[in-house]
Amino acid sequence: MESRLSDAQVEALSREARKAKGFAYAPYSGFPVGAAVLGEDGKIYSGCNVENASYGLSNCGERTALFKMVSEGCRHFKAVLVCCGKTPQEAVPCGACRQVMSELCCSMEEAEVILEGEDGGRLFYSLQELYPHGFTSFRPEAAEKAAADLGHSEKMDSARKDGEWAKPKEPGTSGHDSENQAAHGKGKG
Ligand SMILES: [Zn+2]
Repeated sequence: MESRLSDAQVEALSREARKAKGFAYAPYSGFPVGAAVLGEDGKIYSGCNVENASYGLSNCGERTALFKMVSEGCRHFKAVLVCCGKTPQEAVPCGACRQVMSELCCSMEEAEVILEGEDGGRLFYSLQELYPHGFTSFRPEAAEKAAADLGHSEKMDSARKDGEWAKPKEPGTSGHDSENQAAHGKGKG
């Protein structure tokens, strides 16, 4: 994609991501990651990966930066730059980070994901290109759009008319779970 960012904005993101990468705590993977997020407030938030001896508790650099943005009062981002590996291809975000990005972006089409390698090479994507069918089931508006993209809009409409939309489940009614999921379409598929 063609970036909407200025060269100066991309360079600033790169600088902050590389700085954060220097703080990475990655003794297990040996793969330090730095990320920098341009918030809709115009500020840059950075983060690194933080691993743990209990592997599943590790956090990616992208999510560290995104969570920092939210915790400092900014709700949406315009761009994320990820820096790791030798070439930009190695900086592709994992699925978990893409899912979090899809929730916190200004828009799927406009949010940019920039991959940068140690070699200085960069690749530019829209979030829509990297994560076209994310999980949206508890976000009715986003789910409706996703369903339309998948050709499931009628199912979504009838589910909503029936008042079944994201209705909190009463304890002990788990027998309805499969019905509810069916009514909500295949948002997770
Ligand atoms: Zn990740």
